[in-house]
Amino acid sequence: MESTVPGVDLLPLHLSLAGRLVVVVGGGPVAARKVDAALAVRADITVVAPYACEEIAAASAAGTLTWIERDYRDGDLHGAWLVVAATGDRVTDAAVEDQATAQRTFCVRADDAGAGTARTPAIARRDDLLISVGSGTATAADPRRAVAVRNAIAQALDAGSLPLRRHRPGPGRVVLVGGGPGDADLLTLRGRRELAAADVVVVDRLAPRAVLDELAPGVLVLDVGKAPGRHPVPQHAINALLVEHARAGRRVVRLKGGDPYVFGRGGEEVAACRRAGVPVEVVPGVTSAFSVPAAAGIPVTHRGLSRRVTVLSGHDAADSADEPVDWRPLAAGGGTLVVLMGAAALPEITSGLLAGGMQPQTPVAVIENGWTAEQRVTSGTISDITCKAKEVGVQSPAVIVIGEVAGLAC
Ligand code: SAH
Repeated sequence: MESTVPGVDLLPLHLSLAGRLVVVVGGGPVAARKVDAALAVRADITVVAPYACEEIAAASAAGTLTWIERDYRDGDLHGAWLVVAATGDRVTDAAVEDQATAQRTFCVRADDAGAGTARTPAIARRDDLLISVGSGTATAADPRRAVAVRNAIAQALDAGSLPLRRHRPGPGRVVLVGGGPGDADLLTLRGRRELAAADVVVVDRLAPRAVLDELAPGVLVLDVGKAPGRHPVPQHAINALLVEHARAGRRVVRLKGGDPYVFGRGGEEVAACRRAGVPVEVVPGVTSAFSVPAAAGIPVTHRGLSRRVTVLSGHDAADSADEPVDWRPLAAGGGTLVVLMGAAALPEITSGLLAGGMQPQTPVAVIENGWTAEQRVTSGTISDITCKAKEVGVQSPAVIVIGEVAGLAC
């Protein structure tokens, strides 16, 4: 037996009210809030009040509750599982409570958090989790304190810093999470929350790997990272992994670098899940195409310098034998070009653009390992950048920025 805690005399319970009668006495904004809460759990609601605010009147007109348009009378609580006294008048609320108590129905008093035979806690719902916080004693009710603690818990849940993982099997699903350019701080809150709930994390080389250390013990981490020129796990096998784990009832996070839909093959993974009938969602990420230039002080558009930005894959330049790139419109476009996966193909890119008519003095910046301790910026022009990059030994991952804005690199 649990020993008695002095002063604690309330037993917390979560009530199942769907289809059960809740009588709300009163029609003002306070009553409307209680009505809202009861509607959210599909209770059968009767409001007793001579006048009601707009929300209650509208809900009554829509048939979602019954509104008895008169003063409260004895007998109105008949058949109720729960009563809410919210008239704003202490005497009436006390009479409602007395009546409820006489028929052994719990009663919430909206006028006095310390009165009544039931209390409504401050709540937060996240996923299928219900968090409720309330005062432990009937006499020392402090609803604002409960709200402050509830808010702090909700915030921690939103930040993914509380363990959200299910301990009982449920339906599996896949979430593609954009991890941003590498620094764990640049992962979204939603992404973190998904990670905190994950059973399996399938991770890429350029994803923010520091977050893996925060995963709960027992979370399965599958590293499918591709280094350039080396493909340890082919795409079709990654797709199959995602589907297989989700079908086994696991929550799978596919943690990718940058944004899943910017040269991330996210579209293919989503299509594979949909084909297999596996629920799939995408959490966008901060793409390296725009954020890595920013790490070097380069805005990809800038008033007076560039009104347009084109994002390209350097692989296309290297694979030009299949489908030659037409560099002329890119060279003449006048906006900013951002090239991902372009470190190895820098000679082809620069010669293509020069041959396509780009001004030889056009500024270029190459940013390696953006947002990490190893970040390095190499600046030059379209005519000399290949040489400079070779001299310093530029390597993947790198973002190449071509255009007037590249001159702003610092
Ligand atoms: N989906 C990703 C891009 C994947 S392609 C995104 O939206 O960012 C991989 C390329 O992204 C790399 O070859 C490199 O060009 C670029 N990249 C990703 N992270 C980088 C980083 N931290 N620094 C420099 N380049 C990066």
